[in-house]
Amino acid sequence: MIRCHIGLGSNLADPAGQLRRALDGLARLPDSRLVGCSPLYGSTPVGPADQPDFINAVAALDTDLPPLTLLDALQGLEQAAGRERLRHWGERTLDLDLLLYGEQSIHHPRLTVPHPRMLERAFVLVPLADLAPTLTLPDGSTLASHRQQCDDAGVWYHEAAPDVGHDDISQL
Ligand code: AMP
Repeated sequence: MIRCHIGLGSNLADPAGQLRRALDGLARLPDSRLVGCSPLYGSTPVGPADQPDFINAVAALDTDLPPLTLLDALQGLEQAAGRERLRHWGERTLDLDLLLYGEQSIHHPRLTVPHPRMLERAFVLVPLADLAPTLTLPDGSTLASHRQQCDDAGVWYHEAAPDVGHDDISQL
């Protein structure tokens, strides 16, 4: 199985509940095993400022699904949450980003991995570093170095990590 990291975000319709439902959905994906989730963080929106704050987290999923199949599954969960795209970088019921797919670099018209903006986003780096502090990226750089350099002023601890019911998070 490949260890993947998935970014979750919501700022509409009970955001923390949206994230919990998305985690349930991830736990039910075929040929996959949800192995952990970071604490939930609040974040100020990137993009239009006249929208609610976000709740963000990062989940770790072990999977045998190929990358595009996994992307389809993530988009299916977004649709199931009734995701509306009102405006670019605007409010959303559920946003799921495939941040990392093992140590692979993927360049496909539908999918770029590592997620192209993850290193600029404290709302990704902070929960990811909580969950997987010793991670190395495909280019050999360490997550810890990116986490150290990021400005995390717009990100705050919101709630303890949801219990996803597995025990091997030391391997994240
Ligand atoms: P967003 O508005 O952030 O949900 O962007 C969704 C679009 O980004 C979809 O059309 C995906 O095909 C594309 N995309 C490219 N790379 C990724 C990735 N790593 N994770 C999720 N979506 C991606």
